[in-house]
Amino acid sequence: MSETQFDLIVIGSGPGGYVGAIRAAQLGLKTAIIEKDKTYGGTCLNVGCIPSKALLESSEHFVAAQHDFAAHGIKVSKVDLDLPTMMARKDKVVKQNTEGIAFLFKKNKITPFTGFGKIIAPGKVEVKGADGNTQVLTGKNIMIATGSAPVELPFLKFDEKRIVSNTGALALTQVPKTMIVVGGGVIGLELGSVWQRLGAKVTVIEYANRLGGTMDQECMTVLKRGLEKEGMSFLLSTKVTASKTLNDGVEVTYESLTDGKTASMKADVVLVATGRKPFTTGVGCEEMGIQKDPQGRIVVDKHFQTNIPGIFAIGDVITGPMLAHKAEEEGVALAEILAGHAGHVNYNTVPGIIYTHPEIAAVGLTEEQLKEKGIEFNVGKFPFMANGRARAKGFTDGFVKIIADKKTDRILGAHMVGPSVSELIHEVVVCMEFGGSSEDLARSFHAHPTLSEAVREAALGVEKRVRQM
Ligand code: FAD
Repeated sequence: MSETQFDLIVIGSGPGGYVGAIRAAQLGLKTAIIEKDKTYGGTCLNVGCIPSKALLESSEHFVAAQHDFAAHGIKVSKVDLDLPTMMARKDKVVKQNTEGIAFLFKKNKITPFTGFGKIIAPGKVEVKGADGNTQVLTGKNIMIATGSAPVELPFLKFDEKRIVSNTGALALTQVPKTMIVVGGGVIGLELGSVWQRLGAKVTVIEYANRLGGTMDQECMTVLKRGLEKEGMSFLLSTKVTASKTLNDGVEVTYESLTDGKTASMKADVVLVATGRKPFTTGVGCEEMGIQKDPQGRIVVDKHFQTNIPGIFAIGDVITGPMLAHKAEEEGVALAEILAGHAGHVNYNTVPGIIYTHPEIAAVGLTEEQLKEKGIEFNVGKFPFMANGRARAKGFTDGFVKIIADKKTDRILGAHMVGPSVSELIHEVVVCMEFGGSSEDLARSFHAHPTLSEAVREAALGVEKRVRQM
């Protein structure tokens, strides 16, 4: 094979593309990966999961030092914010991660190309570098992993200073006094809570009459209460209709969907977090006749193949939750299929998490969804207030809820709000992956004292056997 001939050409180095490329290389496929940006890792590593979690962590420490240390007998006289250092730390965390990927490409003998990838024929991808030079790679198969981009509202165009997407919201150089977050989904709540903790007065405007989309609303109530305690305000069932950029901020006009009343509010910064759309610009879909759905997502079959043989797509660019771990699993499954193995993704066990304070974590179906489907179930619930470790930590808000099939006891879902639930959810994910029951969880050892005992107690609660209270 020549230097530009491959078994697999991956377009896009986000979590879907880079993890898929690594799996393909591990299985012996000669693999190339093309990335248009200067660094690898896509949305997730550069302007998504990783920088947001770095700032969430830092801002939580800032609040803890001001308000929580005293209860532990630690006196802190004055807590100052050093935003440049906080941002520099975030940038360092991002750099460590993106450079880690370059190392993994080398280790796994994946050939990376920097430039814009465009499919010009089945098995042929043109790479156009920043200098305008092009080269053509040939490959038996092509994986489109070009991800997604934030949705821009026609009357709130991003300037990334006053009207920001996630990219601008992760790089503000000073704490805004006031911030409007348009959209009460995961990204809006996470990034809104960062700036709220750092001192901004944040108002979230949400079109729906609930936060967090389809997530368990009992969990959302606890989260909303927690965010309100931190000073965040919410306008639900409210539609943003216009905006005006002023010298010192942005004025946003909105309309209540319940009574039709309009009003306006001024803020230093507006974060638009109304969703993300698949990114396929310039990749050659139109020229190749690759089929898309009305939402612009590439249509694939159950083996991730598009309507053009040899061209596949995974991650945010296809249907399903826009999550890094979903993209990763699809990348792995596709690589395995292409290498002749039985790659598969179990979409029933994709966890969804909101990394706020408290956190929310979920897997499987909610009670609401089960009722809609007419499936009978039992619920076990356990509050962190009754968990010894949570009390020792001083973080007792929230609960764990386990839902199991009424007849078989098979776990159908778990919904948690509280301390470290982003970690706790995974024992339920594994249990569900093995088709486990609430009894399986309840009979498994859980070391004492741990937060995970709350998961066990909730599982015991399915059979009304809760012990700790
Ligand atoms: P992407 O990560 O978007 O990567 C696509 C890559 O393709 C990019 O690097 C892009 O430059 C490149 N590309 C596009 N077109 C071309 C082309 N023609 N040629 C070459 N390269 C190209 N998910 C979670 O699971 N957990 C979280 O905590 C989380 N937090 C988030 C926080 C924020 C603020 C945001 C915005 C997103 C978050 N997400 C989170 C979502 C997650 O980032 C995405 O689901 C994930 O990155 C999708 O991976 P992907 O590989 O499909 O695409």
